[in-house]
Amino acid sequence: MLRRLNNALPVPIETDDELKLFLRFHHESGNILYYSDDNLGDTIVLDPQWLIDAFKSLITARMFCCRKPNIFEKWIKFNETAILTRELIDAIWEQKENIVFYEHRDLLLNYLEKLGIIAKPHQLPRVTNETDYYFVPCVLKTPPPDELLIQKESTDRRSTSKLCLTTELRFLPTAVFNKLLAACINRLALPESDAKHLIFCGCAVLDLEGNHTIHLYFFDHVIQIWITKFSSQKEEQSNRLCSQVYAFVLDILANGLHLSDHLKVFFKCQSSQHNSNENMFSEERLSKGTDVVCHCRAGRHVLQSNELTYYWHYAEEDPEEMLTDKQISSIAGNIGKEYQALAFKLGLSQVEIDHIISDFNNAVDRRTRILLRWRDKMKKKREANLDTLTKAMKAVGIDSRTVLESAECL
Ligand SMILES: [Zn+2]
Repeated sequence: MLRRLNNALPVPIETDDELKLFLRFHHESGNILYYSDDNLGDTIVLDPQWLIDAFKSLITARMFCCRKPNIFEKWIKFNETAILTRELIDAIWEQKENIVFYEHRDLLLNYLEKLGIIAKPHQLPRVTNETDYYFVPCVLKTPPPDELLIQKESTDRRSTSKLCLTTELRFLPTAVFNKLLAACINRLALPESDAKHLIFCGCAVLDLEGNHTIHLYFFDHVIQIWITKFSSQKEEQSNRLCSQVYAFVLDILANGLHLSDHLKVFFKCQSSQHNSNENMFSEERLSKGTDVVCHCRAGRHVLQSNELTYYWHYAEEDPEEMLTDKQISSIAGNIGKEYQALAFKLGLSQVEIDHIISDFNNAVDRRTRILLRWRDKMKKKREANLDTLTKAMKAVGIDSRTVLESAECL
């Protein structure tokens, strides 16, 4: 459709890549919404207000739901727990005045998810019964109880230091925290067992693999994160897991929410108070390796700088490990339409790409061939690894985490 309109112009945009660039420019300027993802790439939202109206219709549906007792119960539950079920969405959008939202509900929900307003809980790759509800962090009004936030060291649990993230100007809107929370619910947390969801206004405690929990807490423009390991054997937290969480959170804030130039990282000791931004030590200061003195609830005490940071840094034994054939074929099965741009980014020439396209009809075969060609070219440089591929995917707008997760490479 857009191509047809473009071709009708006196001076049309010449190539599809230029057309995409044009759309991205207007997306960045806030005029339209355009994402090149597989499930959204075929649409462009010309009036972003439409999404806001659709979302508003859900959170302001109290009066309508009031008249239908069984729906009202669900709406009250949504208002209290931020759990938005498909059933409730359908009931509200089926109304005559919302019918346009109902007609486009999957698309609208995909956009609201992409924007970090709603989040589908993390789904393990092999779990077949898909969760049919969303979390809507911005609906939450109840603050967390204090006892949830006081770190208790006991024989069955050990917590990391508190990772603190803010900006240079110490200004971070609540919406940023809510979007981070949505991303964590979607990507990190395991599905609920029998446990009640511990999600409050400005706070969440989520379960992670291997009997770990993560606390995310927002206080006065600072995001605080810490991880606790539960173990009868006094096992330590997994540094690999902590550093993955750290990298994930930094990626969301820096790239997903465009804070990269302004982000500041601090660390606090385990005993420090959650509802205070004192006793935070900056990453730069700790990198000097000198001792720091903390004046927290534990009284005045001295800490070696790596006592605060070591949880969050973990070096893989062989980060340069080359990708295997198996990894390549599963990654190829999960890359979308952007594979040509990726091939360019990985250093293949147009001639090489054209050859591969003409030699293979099947899309997955083409992508596999491209990755294998890249690996052959890179062999001597030992750069055909996950790290290089992840960077290239990010550079061309592929959601690398989803691809690698689906390919079970993470
Ligand atoms: Zn302390």
